[in-house]
Amino acid sequence: MTDVAAHPALDRLATALGDRLAFPGDSRWDAVRSPWNLSIDQHPAAVAAPAGLDELRDVLDAARADGLQLAVQPGGHGASGNLDGTVLLRTAAFDRLEVDRDARVALIGAGVSWGRVLDALSGTGLVAMAGSSPIINATAFTLSGGQSWFARSHGHASGSLRAVELLTADGRHRWLRDADEPELLWAMRGAGGAFGVVTAIEVDLHPAPVITGGRLDFEPTDVAAVLRAVVDAGRDAPDTLALHAGVLRIPDVPQAAPELRGRTIVTAMFVELGASGEARAAIDRVRAAGTVVTDTIGPVPVEHLGGIVDEPTDPSPDTSWSALADLDADAIDRLVDAWRSPEGQEIIAFGFRALGGALALPPRRPGIAGAVREWNVVTAHAMGLPGGEEAAERAFTAMRAAVGHAASDRTFCTFLGPGVGYTGAYAESDVARAANVKATVDPEGRFRGNRDFT
Ligand SMILES: Cc1cc2nc3c(=O)[nH]c(=O)nc-3n(C[C@H](O)[C@H](O)[C@H](O)COP(=O)(O)OP(=O)(O)OC[C@H]3O[C@@H](n4cnc5c(N)ncnc54)[C@H](O)[C@@H]3O)c2cc1C
Repeated sequence: MTDVAAHPALDRLATALGDRLAFPGDSRWDAVRSPWNLSIDQHPAAVAAPAGLDELRDVLDAARADGLQLAVQPGGHGASGNLDGTVLLRTAAFDRLEVDRDARVALIGAGVSWGRVLDALSGTGLVAMAGSSPIINATAFTLSGGQSWFARSHGHASGSLRAVELLTADGRHRWLRDADEPELLWAMRGAGGAFGVVTAIEVDLHPAPVITGGRLDFEPTDVAAVLRAVVDAGRDAPDTLALHAGVLRIPDVPQAAPELRGRTIVTAMFVELGASGEARAAIDRVRAAGTVVTDTIGPVPVEHLGGIVDEPTDPSPDTSWSALADLDADAIDRLVDAWRSPEGQEIIAFGFRALGGALALPPRRPGIAGAVREWNVVTAHAMGLPGGEEAAERAFTAMRAAVGHAASDRTFCTFLGPGVGYTGAYAESDVARAANVKATVDPEGRFRGNRDFT
């Protein structure tokens, strides 16, 4: 039942908002409170899906009157758990999307996914800094740094963030640019989830007259050779080429498609801004590393970019580990051994991306998501089922040990596990600087992001 006494102001909004405001005890409570990552069991005080700015302001005012915090969570791939005393905000209604082809700029509402943005770019010869999955929210991704297919060409997605439209705790709603608020924009380019509610962002679009890419799937026995080839190719391939490598071990469980149960799939994935001979040579080196069973390399229309990796779209349990690292052939062999070991059986997917290029340089626009010196980011995923936490942690420990000294103790903000603060991604001095910005913009601490400034 709704605890009316605990939040009387919010409760008074219930009639006006109807289905757009839910409380514990409502019949659909579990459906609306759940994040995409079903491993996270979050218990907010209420969930609001305001229809527009006026309702958003009403929710902010009511939360303040009731002494509650607010947390924006469009999807919850990056959910981190603790939402006690917090109103969870869903942003689906903020669905504006405008592409200015001549100015190479897009205005993206806070409810818009990368898939929708890429569809809108069809035929324009332009791309936005999208990641591998079309269902990820473009604003959430960009405010968290965002590791795009085009990171080696253009750096963090947050470096292409031109402006934010922000509702702050003091009730002001305005567009903010570097000229107005350079320090706030610096912090929001990578640690942007706790300064207010972003209702839209404006981002650079980048020229992409031709995009080439796709995936190569190999026999499972080729795993080490293929991963080594991708590490090597990533060191000298042109910056216009993105290289990802991954291994998927599909569990023999009833939830998996019958034809895939128990199978292992070894994959190398590529996206090039262009169609150069150098990139083709790098892809050919990987192709020669094993027996190719599927080869989809070819021209990729921008609206099909989200289909290359074939990641899950339905809400799923997930628990993961990630680290920036400088992989070499020995580290790959140790990783494969760890994945094959008894502890490693808990890992259903692991892989890495090639970094370098523009990511190793200062960002296009100043941001806390700064230059990344490592050549790779490694990730591993376990099933994340209740009761499996210890087994997953043992598996991740084995993977971490396998990478050894090649691993840093940081990763991209978007790849951090639940409950890990921004120092998991950024230098302590930068996190302290962002915390100062937070204290100025939101002195009451009304907003809570999925990461703390610790
Ligand atoms: C299948 C899959 C593929 C992925 N691929 C990539 C990839 O290629 N590259 C990469 O970098 N990451 C990737 N990720 C990670 C993903 O980018 C993060 O999980 C990120 O948090 C976005 O997830 P989301 O859209 O569900 O946002 P949420 O988890 O719902 O939001 C994340 C945080 O952003 C902030 N936020 C969101 N919207 C607003 C707003 N309007 N105003 C203020 N703050 C806001 C909040 O602090 C919120 O907690 C992937 C994740 C999955 C599950």
